[in-house]
Amino acid sequence: MIIGLTGTPGTGKTSVCRILEGRGYRVIHMNDLIKNEHLYSEVDEERDTVVADMDRVLSRVCELVGDDESVTILDSHMSHYIADIVIVLRTAPSELKKRLEARNYSDPKVQENVEAECLDVILVESVEWCQLVYEVDTTGRGADDVAEDVERIISGVLSGDD
Ligand code: ADP
Ligand code: MN
Repeated sequence: MIIGLTGTPGTGKTSVCRILEGRGYRVIHMNDLIKNEHLYSEVDEERDTVVADMDRVLSRVCELVGDDESVTILDSHMSHYIADIVIVLRTAPSELKKRLEARNYSDPKVQENVEAECLDVILVESVEWCQLVYEVDTTGRGADDVAEDVERIISGVLSGDD
């Protein structure tokens, strides 16, 4: 089963995934996979990012997951295109802005991501692509606390009482 941990950049996907990895969950960090295996179609220098080749990413993720029935968590703001179940991390725009500034994102990149969070872009995409979508608010909470919530959702899904 593929669980997508998605959300606007800065909502804490990678931080939470690292915690879950430490607890024994299998995680695929899609950004690393895309960069390490060159699974992109172009480099967007202006926006300092790459444009993922989603067909190749999808087949590579499927290959890595194989017919493993246990949980694999995908760390990516695009994981909702692939996952069976999606957990969307959310952050209040004012706090997200601070996190992205602390990460030294350029002003336009901070603005673009804060706007995307305000407009629920990832949530809307998630419900369009996936039947089962959960939201977790990370505002004013530490990554450990958020990881607890995510783990609880996964356990609930696995035991069938979602
Ligand atoms: P993402 O993978 O969604 O882009 P990261 O996990 O890389 O997000 O986190 C982005 C930044 O926000 C990092 O500097 C991280 O330390 C910080 N951060 C992550 N989760 C939280 C949280 N729950 N509360 C406060 N800061 C956080
Ligand atoms: Mn990340």
